[in-house]
Amino acid sequence: MSPELIDALAQCRNLPSPPGIAMRVIELAQDPEADLASAAEVIALDMALSARMLRIANSPLYASRRRINNLGQALPMLGLNATLQLALGLSISQCLQQQDPRGGNGMAGQLWRRSVLNALAARQLGQACGVRRTEELMLAGLLQDIGILALLQVESERYPQLLAQADSNAALVRLEREQLGFTHADAGAAVASEWNLPQYLVDAIAASESTETPADTFQACVALSRWLSDIWFADDADAARETALRQTDAQLHLACPRFDEVIAQIDELLPDISSLFEVPMLTPARVANLIEHARELAMLRTLREQQDLMLSQQRALELEQRASRMAELAHRDALTGVLNRRQLEVVLDHEFARASRDDTPLSLAFIDLDDFKKINDMYGHLVGDEVLRAFAGKLQQTLREGDTVARFGGEEFIVLMPGTPEDVALDVMRRLLATLAATPMHTLQDGTLFVTFSAGVATHGGYERFADMQELLKAADDVVYRSKNQGRNRVIARGPQREASPAPAVS
Ligand code: GH3
Ligand code: MG
Ligand code: MG
Repeated sequence: MSPELIDALAQCRNLPSPPGIAMRVIELAQDPEADLASAAEVIALDMALSARMLRIANSPLYASRRRINNLGQALPMLGLNATLQLALGLSISQCLQQQDPRGGNGMAGQLWRRSVLNALAARQLGQACGVRRTEELMLAGLLQDIGILALLQVESERYPQLLAQADSNAALVRLEREQLGFTHADAGAAVASEWNLPQYLVDAIAASESTETPADTFQACVALSRWLSDIWFADDADAARETALRQTDAQLHLACPRFDEVIAQIDELLPDISSLFEVPMLTPARVANLIEHARELAMLRTLREQQDLMLSQQRALELEQRASRMAELAHRDALTGVLNRRQLEVVLDHEFARASRDDTPLSLAFIDLDDFKKINDMYGHLVGDEVLRAFAGKLQQTLREGDTVARFGGEEFIVLMPGTPEDVALDVMRRLLATLAATPMHTLQDGTLFVTFSAGVATHGGYERFADMQELLKAADDVVYRSKNQGRNRVIARGPQREASPAPAVS
């Protein structure tokens, strides 16, 4: 603080003093023992202040669902800190407005209208930036120009001229520095300190005209609030918005469209706030137009974002479908299209665990084509491939949906039949052999190719339980050898009671 200012303030007899109620609230704010009951006692002494606190509790600033009818309900809803900050702001504004000899129409009245807008702008900026101290922001915004009021009284000759000369806040600050050697922010901080206002207020007021970068987001919101309220007071609202936007973006990284949202919020809350502080204030038509325009732009932006979102969702869906097609392909055998051996093991693992857990039978048939080498030898590998492909296709078609067909390797296939006891599985496989043996697998110039197979069926959970799926596979494979040994073209079950009865020979 400059010595000149301290001198000036010390010599001044008619420095505005805080009203009695405000003094009591300031004391409460400093008192660590203060509670809601003592705050209610002080506020209740002032009818006008009580009424304002009630209105604030019911205002859109505190979107409470139920109607608040008395201070006893209002103060707990607001909490002690908010109550004290709001009461302070309301009682100081009440008192200082009464000191304006021209009933709010003079310079001081004009200044209060600005201060109320500053309070609202600081609050909404803070909210957009995640600052929780909403009431402190409002109070700091409200009081940041209190130095101007003080100087109007302290320098009653010089200062009104200076104020009239300045066509903007920047110009005012420049004139103050030239002619007084200090700014109204210095004076305001001195008054706040003199009044014993909380230190954060003194600091925020002092920083509000500082040329240095604000210490934190809180102080930045307070200092920027003036640029925002300029939009309402400047002749050229668009230019004022541009300047405010530039400043806000530089200091708080708050750009369009969030900046315009803040402006629209201020506009929405303005009628309630101005009636709360009893300063008549309307949004000028030019500002209303500007907000309307910003809203339209925001709507267009939202539409575009929705379109972008839809496109990207569609793209994501396509990628997902492609990924699942790829995964599906990775599970399939390239030649025949039935499950490959790796995926068979995954399914078998799962089914084996399920059958063990639920105590239901799981049958597995191991199929080996008969004399397949001869087909290759006689007709070539490509024909052999065609036969394998046709065989796998027919196998898949003929079986039930819940059954799994996989190529184990070479000319060997596995059929997995969950929930199927051994005798049923044996019947299924025998019918399958009869059907497939009678189905042409390939047509050649000189005839049609048929194939037979030998199969072994083993069942987990019937008369025996296997330790794991590999044991079950091995058991079925063992039975295939018995089928081969007994002359091929047959299905045998592992169970001793189900010894082979050869399937009808197929030509
Ligand atoms: P068995 O009745 O004893 O099973 O006689 P087999 O000839 O079917 O059995 P073997 O194990 O002696 O021969 C299997 C043949 O299957 C040999 C192999 O070349 C053929 N093979 C294995 N995989 C393929 C394939 O992908 N394509 C073709 N064309 N042939 C294959
Ligand atoms: Mg074989
Ligand atoms: Mg074979």
